[in-house]
Amino acid sequence: MRINVLGSSSSGNATLAVSGSTRVLIDAGFSAREIRRRLESIGEDISRINAIVVTHEHSDHIRGVPVLARSLRIPVFISPATLNTWNLGKTTDALKADQTISAEEDFEIGELQFRPFRVPHDAAETLAFRIEARGVRVAYATDLGYIPQLVAQHLRGVDVLVLEANHDLEMLKNGPYPWSLKQRVMSRHGHLSNDEMARFFQEDFDGSAEHIVLMHLSRTNNHPEVARMVALQAMDGRGSTFTRNLEQRLKLARHDQPSEWMDV
Ligand SMILES: [Zn+2]
Ligand SMILES: [Zn+2]
Repeated sequence: MRINVLGSSSSGNATLAVSGSTRVLIDAGFSAREIRRRLESIGEDISRINAIVVTHEHSDHIRGVPVLARSLRIPVFISPATLNTWNLGKTTDALKADQTISAEEDFEIGELQFRPFRVPHDAAETLAFRIEARGVRVAYATDLGYIPQLVAQHLRGVDVLVLEANHDLEMLKNGPYPWSLKQRVMSRHGHLSNDEMARFFQEDFDGSAEHIVLMHLSRTNNHPEVARMVALQAMDGRGSTFTRNLEQRLKLARHDQPSEWMDV
């Protein structure tokens, strides 16, 4: 399997998962044109995308979905709650349910097998995913206020772990966001702080992942080097499984350009 985070921040999120001839976008939170551009920059042709899987209805995850679905004539895999909430807010451009998905019910797109699971976030129903193909396992979890034990279980035993690291608590508290938004981001149904990400690595992570990708870093309330240091420190002292090649295994998704390919 190959994974590429095409871009990630509160201004847009999209990730490509490839196995054999199967190509799936997880979220499409940039314009269709921008997604095409980013795919081209990593040598991928947008016309070869087979489907889009949606985590939740926030615009930084769905912006390009209607245009892509229509122009490419590809199915959108989405939960009924997400679809309804999305369409409630729109008078035009309603999205049709191509494939409805629900938590803990596996579904397949070509070679890729998905297991959705719920994460705590202030959307109708936010899903994270385990993705498997040819014995390779990926966990993909973003937009979650904290990591409940049930979620932590899904993040273990994987070859690639893609996890949110949204904000540094001090930067958020002292930053420019209005108080109500700060409270929203900080809440149990907000976004994952560096501290909660670190707690997971200290207490719940099994160290297995060959690639660890931190994503959805706030451009206002976090800094890549801060998130990186927090993650490295969290795993320091947990033994050689955790720290082996950690500098190379640990990656940070960028808002402005695709990541390197993660091949497993
Ligand atoms: Zn988001
Ligand atoms: Zn969100």
